[in-house]
Amino acid sequence: MTTFDTNAVHYGYDRAANANAASVPIYSTAAFDMESAARGDRLAGGEELGFSYSRVANPTIDALEKRLAALEGGQAAVAVSSGMAAVSFALLAAAEGGGRIIAPIDIYGASVDALATFFPQFGIHTDFVDDINDPDEVASAIRPETRAIFAESVANPSTRVTDVQPLADLAHRHGLPLIIDNTVPTPYLFRPIEFGADIVVHSTTKGICGHGNALGGVVIDAGRFDWTAGRHPQFTRIEQVISDERRGIPRSFASLFGNLAFIRRIRTKYVRTFGAVLSPFNAYQQLIGLETLPVRLDREVASTLNIAQWLNGHPHVEEVHYTGLPDDAQRALVDRYYPKGVGTILSFRIDGDRENLYRLIDSTKVFTYLPNIGDAKSLIVDPARITHREVPGEYRRRAGITDSDIRLSIGLEDPADLIADLDQAFRAAYHG
Ligand SMILES: *Cc1c(COP(=O)(O)O)cnc(C)c1O
Repeated sequence: MTTFDTNAVHYGYDRAANANAASVPIYSTAAFDMESAARGDRLAGGEELGFSYSRVANPTIDALEKRLAALEGGQAAVAVSSGMAAVSFALLAAAEGGGRIIAPIDIYGASVDALATFFPQFGIHTDFVDDINDPDEVASAIRPETRAIFAESVANPSTRVTDVQPLADLAHRHGLPLIIDNTVPTPYLFRPIEFGADIVVHSTTKGICGHGNALGGVVIDAGRFDWTAGRHPQFTRIEQVISDERRGIPRSFASLFGNLAFIRRIRTKYVRTFGAVLSPFNAYQQLIGLETLPVRLDREVASTLNIAQWLNGHPHVEEVHYTGLPDDAQRALVDRYYPKGVGTILSFRIDGDRENLYRLIDSTKVFTYLPNIGDAKSLIVDPARITHREVPGEYRRRAGITDSDIRLSIGLEDPADLIADLDQAFRAAYHG
């Protein structure tokens, strides 16, 4: 078996089956010839894997799915049109039919909004915990209707690290899957499945694509969770779409797909009916981005640490939130899970008022004012007004996000230029 860096360049693509094209071709086609009526029947029923319609599967996307599953150490993956589609589909598929989810309060803004205010409209509710690393608090939130535990491996924007292994053990003792949003570290820095996570989701828009030029998301299944143990009746229910009506063979996702029931249900029910399909062109851009993931991240992580250390000593900075700093309170967890670093974002709190914050943001010349992360360009944003704006104020306070916080995403520029840019922006913000 080849290593991560080699798989990031090659895995999942068969040149010989693609006219020996060196680069994965973009299959820009809505549909595929099903060849024979018998094969069409098998494809439609999920008995044979293959291509018939690009809302369900496409060869360009298939290469990306295989590569991402391999890089995360999973059994199978389904790519979708954005990170939020991946988060929403994974959580809805687990909690479908009126279930509850347990999640920490300090997660991505749109995820909090979905869990706190939107999913309840569909009968799915969330029990938020303040500290996902406190086993007593998490255990006390588990109820008969709980269907999954969800957390970010590294929280955006606090970079707080989740202690994945004991959380997975706790979840499994209660018959629950652990779903991890691994967007911030990417599989290069951390692989949650190695520590017991059952499902991993990503916004591939971020570090995986790496250039801020294509939206995408993915759901990856470790293929280990037993969906028939009791809490998830949606997997043992008979489903028409995969049953064989003519021969009178009823099937459920668990009876047909075993431990891959979850990921097959994501494709066959969620992507096929909600339709949040990744475009083959975006899949191509993400495959290209993946090729350079290890080298980009090594460089960006080193620059992020450099900048965090510089900010740490700045007279107008009250707090730096970067768990990669040597004296961070989570040092032991970071050493255990993140030997190559926690990621390429950090946040910090400045003194002064909104005028100072606005002037600081508006004065940067190398940093760009953008709401995404994981770009080759360095980015600056004020989470309270932008990325976490939709989060109800009470949740934002519990998550520790204030109006004086700034988030940086560090790219590939020379770190000395980035520090000089911040330095001149601070001067403009406080003396201008
Ligand atoms: C950006 C992000 C998402 C959402 O991804 P999109 O591709 O923007 O839909 C989800 N989770 C985390 C941690 C993110 O940073």
